[in-house]
Amino acid sequence: MSSLTEQKPVVYCNYVGGEWTESSSKELLESRNPATGSLISYAQKSTVQDVEQAIDSVYEAYQRSDWGYNPKRRYEALLGLAQKIEENLEHLARILTMEQGKTIRESRIELMGCVDTLKYFAGAARTVFGRSIQLEPGNFGVIAKEPIGVVGIISPWNWPALLMIRELAPALAAGNGVIVKPASLTPAISVEIFKLIAEVPHFTKGIVSIVTGPGRSIGAAMGTSKKIDMISFTGDTSTGKTIMELATSNIKKLALELGGKSPNVVFDDANLDKAIPLIGRSIFISAGQICMAGSRLLVHESIKQEVLSRLKDYAEHLRVGNGLLESTDMGPVISQNQLDLIAEYCEIGRQEGKIITGGYRLTGGEYDQGYFFAPTIIDDLPANSRIVREEIFGPVLAVQTFSSDEEALAMANDTDFGLSAGVWTTDLNRAMRMSKEIKAGTVWINTYNKNFPEAEFGGYKQSGLGRTRGIDGLMEYCETKHIHFEI
Ligand code: NAD
Repeated sequence: MSSLTEQKPVVYCNYVGGEWTESSSKELLESRNPATGSLISYAQKSTVQDVEQAIDSVYEAYQRSDWGYNPKRRYEALLGLAQKIEENLEHLARILTMEQGKTIRESRIELMGCVDTLKYFAGAARTVFGRSIQLEPGNFGVIAKEPIGVVGIISPWNWPALLMIRELAPALAAGNGVIVKPASLTPAISVEIFKLIAEVPHFTKGIVSIVTGPGRSIGAAMGTSKKIDMISFTGDTSTGKTIMELATSNIKKLALELGGKSPNVVFDDANLDKAIPLIGRSIFISAGQICMAGSRLLVHESIKQEVLSRLKDYAEHLRVGNGLLESTDMGPVISQNQLDLIAEYCEIGRQEGKIITGGYRLTGGEYDQGYFFAPTIIDDLPANSRIVREEIFGPVLAVQTFSSDEEALAMANDTDFGLSAGVWTTDLNRAMRMSKEIKAGTVWINTYNKNFPEAEFGGYKQSGLGRTRGIDGLMEYCETKHIHFEI
């Protein structure tokens, strides 16, 4: 089979109560390859009734089983899933690339991230400890950590495997029952992972379900359901605000991982040999469709010309094409809508600034079948330009210039978002000061895009609420109880 051969369309079912089920709607969602337009699979277009049944089944499995009290079982289950993903990595990577468009190399990285995350939280399942405290003579307290109950996970399409597992692993490790709703553009990879869950005997029957379908109906039904105790949402900031409103129905706990407009701040003493490829990668990986994309470049005026000419060279040497080819550096964007949106932003860039490279849809030959956009760099933008302020979610880098550390800091923080930032300098004092003053959940010094399951990740300001990954990420999925003894 050639590396570009596609499979016959598969029909995916929901996984509810430990069984594969069809939606009562008898309607299907189509998944198409954004590189070729060809149909790769169907998934259930579920109804509110389907999602309510799934919530009931998770609720019952949680109530009747010992899942919440059996950390060893949870450890075995998560480890079992990690092993299954590892064994099926190439198969899953092809599905991820065909459905989402990212390069096969990025798909392998994403899936290895799932394996690592599952292994980390498998171990962490056995370390969900509280503490005991002496309060006054004859009085002491036990601060216990308990599962919350039923958690709904709503995930996006850009890193659909890892962003589902990033929440599923700690939610299950903490002892909760879980219902997942993946993005409508990428159900296949999520259901493929659930096929592997179904093969791991340690999962309590019904403790975890997946239901595919539109966010506005079934995602919203999860948001208002009184049987769901917590929603973990990863997606757009505006959808996150809607989820917050829906969750008031029963004062659900919320974890929100939202959008970003992250800066790379490049000082005049930066090691450019190291910085340029990593800054380029930070915006062009996944065709810019990544929450932590380094979408703003803040560069010291004295090195601006050199940095821009080297980044232009980097962008123009990227091989854009079908992600299934091993040689491809950047795949297509996810859809026609996304392509149109990126083109609109570039039109604004053309009027308000200066296009250094790119700014157009790639056409001709195989490009005509998919949604390919040229890696784009736009300079001389005013601070209030929508290209500087809004998350584009495409391969578009906005460039601004500074002349002092104070100005760089003010520009870095001049945003509604606060997900991540990169700082490039060889001056330790400057690095320390910037890392403390930048309002972002992650600040990388002389690197970018380095993520580990043991290191917390999340947003300041409108980039989110709570933390994912690490011990704090596990604790998001726990309730805290004070048990007081007087003896
Ligand atoms: P989106 O908000 O459109 O959709 C995310 C999920 O929410 C999907 O499953 C969708 O079906 C569902 N949904 C949509 N409307 C809903 C509603 N009214 N009620 C309930 N659910 C609803 O986001 P997207 O386009 O899939 O993803 C891109 C966005 O996600 C970007 O803003 C990106 O920055 C953000 N993101 C953030 C992180 C992070 O860790 N902070 C990671 C990845 C992506």
